[in-house]
Amino acid sequence: MRSVKLAVYALCRAVGLFRLAAWWTRDTLKILCYHGFALADEARFRPKLFITPAVFEQRLATLRRYGVRVLGLDDAVERLYAGTLPPRAATITIDDGFHSVRTLAAPALARHGLPATVYVTTYYVDKGTPIFRLVLQYMFWKTRRRELRLSNVAWSPDAVIDLTDADARERALWACIDYCEARCSEDERVAVCEQLGAGLDVPYQDIVAQRLLHLMTGEQLRELDALGIDVQLHTHRHVFPSDDEARARRELEDNRAALSALLGREGFVHFCYPSGLWDERQWAWLDAAGVRSATTCLGGLNTRATPRHALARILDGENLHPLEFEAALCGFSDLLRSLVRRGA
Ligand SMILES: [Zn+2]
Repeated sequence: MRSVKLAVYALCRAVGLFRLAAWWTRDTLKILCYHGFALADEARFRPKLFITPAVFEQRLATLRRYGVRVLGLDDAVERLYAGTLPPRAATITIDDGFHSVRTLAAPALARHGLPATVYVTTYYVDKGTPIFRLVLQYMFWKTRRRELRLSNVAWSPDAVIDLTDADARERALWACIDYCEARCSEDERVAVCEQLGAGLDVPYQDIVAQRLLHLMTGEQLRELDALGIDVQLHTHRHVFPSDDEARARRELEDNRAALSALLGREGFVHFCYPSGLWDERQWAWLDAAGVRSATTCLGGLNTRATPRHALARILDGENLHPLEFEAALCGFSDLLRSLVRRGA
């Protein structure tokens, strides 16, 4: 199915439809979305979440080829609603604040002279440990062991997990994540990672030494800030519940306070919903907190009619074929989707 789609894309591109789409959608704002940049094998582990430096470099070259004008987020949002966007405007956003944003993305962006915004979730910046649930998923993905032996752990009734059974493997993984996230301190979670890493033969110390699945340190965030890469809000604990206003507000306040303390400045007024989960009733909470824009994980292009707290993005990762990225960037895939919807 995907090969058919790619063949259609290649044909449409060859006859000039991509260029036509880029012209047709020239007045929209395209917001690109990235997460992590692969230091080792993370792009094979989570191709939607990570991108290799080589593919990211190709993407930046594609932006140049299409004559895309990359603006800073604040400027882009203001001009979108003022109706003063330049043609072919885009902005680059990066979610979460992975370590590799500083070491891989920032130098690439600097080489191309492009601005970007990083939405930083601050809990793991403070802790300095890798993201717990991601580390466990990585270990279970990477292991070549056929079974995992456990000695008396609270989260599993079984002493041996058959890792060749995909269901059993998944059940054990999530039982561990759910139990530890609900009941353990960060130190206890680290101990669990060390034990599981040994049992799965994916040493936790190696993950830490390479800074895989880690967020940036405070020092690295300050370096980004000094390089002119914009740092913005993504909640403190990566949650923004739509049914608990007090907690959602606290998440924003804690995130802002942590960023202010780290960077010694204010001005955090752009937000990205964690995990792309959002609800219209949250818009008033964002307004009350002085947030000027919020991006979602909805795919698509933005016009003046797009609500400022429901901005759509182009989600890029190693999973996208260069043709799929190009189709999204020039607005072709979006036009095709609306044509199909209209025809249906
Ligand atoms: Zn996120």
